[in-house]
Amino acid sequence: MKNTKLILILLMLTGAMYGCSSHEAKGEETAKPKAAQQAPERSKKESQQNTASIDTADWIKVNGPARIPILMYHSISSGNSLRVPEAEFRGHMKWLKDNGYYTLTPEEAYIVLTQDKMPSEKCVLITFDDGYTDNFEKAYPILKDYEMKATIFMIGKSVGRKNHLTERQMKEMAEHGIAIESHTINHVELNGLAPEQQLSEMTRSKTLFDGMLKQNTIMLSYPVGHYNAETLKQAEKAGYQMAVTTEPGAAARDQGMYALHRVRISPGMSPDAFGRMVEHSRQ
Ligand SMILES: [Zn+2]
Repeated sequence: MKNTKLILILLMLTGAMYGCSSHEAKGEETAKPKAAQQAPERSKKESQQNTASIDTADWIKVNGPARIPILMYHSISSGNSLRVPEAEFRGHMKWLKDNGYYTLTPEEAYIVLTQDKMPSEKCVLITFDDGYTDNFEKAYPILKDYEMKATIFMIGKSVGRKNHLTERQMKEMAEHGIAIESHTINHVELNGLAPEQQLSEMTRSKTLFDGMLKQNTIMLSYPVGHYNAETLKQAEKAGYQMAVTTEPGAAARDQGMYALHRVRISPGMSPDAFGRMVEHSRQ
């Protein structure tokens, strides 16, 4: 009985909070910016704890700003210029393994980019946009074979939808080295949205994945790679530590931590061609 009362009170409080954002009343407006400021502060603190828990004692110091190739894949299948066939993807992963590459988590990548130290001389961050089912069915078994880590940027509204990852698949991968990060809620081009709509796309997806996967979601990929000056500010405000674009080349902090470049992987690339591209991007 006591519990039911408590739940009721909590529900009423939550209702009141949500009410604030849609009301125009003067008294409530003053409370709004305060709440908006508090969320990112809390997230920043949490993410600092995440990165602080990584032991970097054995890492190599490099001349800054450190550069890392962030590889961009989408679907592992065939049919268009964004889809890389499974056999080609396996060839790419084998090349990375044979050539001594270390695959980073987003948290490790953040340390590399901001502190100029690396867990290995050759590092790479493997990413997939959109969260297709084939990331689980085709890419994940290959990544497991080679004991590699990767990151999937998932669209909030697509969880459990046709051809997209389910919550169960995301949870299983998250427990085995595949990070699930944000690709917003609706996959709308952010540069066409007002600042507050941009913020909503980014905070709602962060809240969704934070809750679903019991994590601190630190990384964001802008839908279709489109963004503007406002996007960079809102991404930070939403509590992310970094974000990626589709600008070509290796990532480094002088691009801005919310405008990191990526190396696009297209179909038809042999392991050697893939390797040349990865090596070239680091120079
Ligand atoms: Zn996308």
